[in-house]
Amino acid sequence: MIGSTLPLLFLDVDGPLIPFGAARQQLPNGYPPYRTGREPQGAGANPLVSRINPAHGPRLLALPCDLVWATTWMSDANECISPWIGLPELPVVVWPEPSNDDERGGLHWKTRTLLDWAAGRSFAWVDDEITDADRAWVEAHHGRALLHRIDPQRGLMDKDFAALDEWLRLRAGHLNG
Ligand SMILES: [Mg+2]
Repeated sequence: MIGSTLPLLFLDVDGPLIPFGAARQQLPNGYPPYRTGREPQGAGANPLVSRINPAHGPRLLALPCDLVWATTWMSDANECISPWIGLPELPVVVWPEPSNDDERGGLHWKTRTLLDWAAGRSFAWVDDEITDADRAWVEAHHGRALLHRIDPQRGLMDKDFAALDEWLRLRAGHLNG
C-alpha cells in the first residue's frame, strides 16, 4: 500500500456488507445466513457475520483500489469478517470521540476523519448513512472523492459494484497516466 497510486476505498460494514432488511422484515426469500461449510472465525458471538455474502470479498478485491475498513467493527473486521469473505488484513480507520461540531453541520461523524485519513488521496466511501451534507462538505474540502450510499435494506448490489468500478477505474487511470 505504501507508494500505491490507487484510490482508497473506505468500507462500512453494517448496511453495505450486513443488510438490515432480514431481521426487520422477515422476508420469505430474505437474507438467510450463507452456508459455506465453515463457521465464521471468532464470530460465534456474532452471527451477523454469516449474513455477509462471501462472494463480496473477491469482488471487492477486484476493484482497482486500496481497501480500508471504515466501520465501528474496528479491528473485529479483520478478525471476523476478512477470513469469512476472503480478504487480507486491511488497514482500519480509528475513530475519534464524536464531535458536536459535526452534528451541527449535519455531517456524518465519520466524514472529517475519513478526509484526514485520505491525506489528499482520491477515495471512494461506501456507507449507508451518507447524506448530501457529507457530499457537499467533501466536495468543498477535497473534491476527488465518491461518496456512494448503499441501501441498508439490501446491502451491496451489482449496481453498486458497477458504479464503484467505473469511478475507481477512472481515478486510477488518471493517477497513473
Ligand atoms: Mg452502516
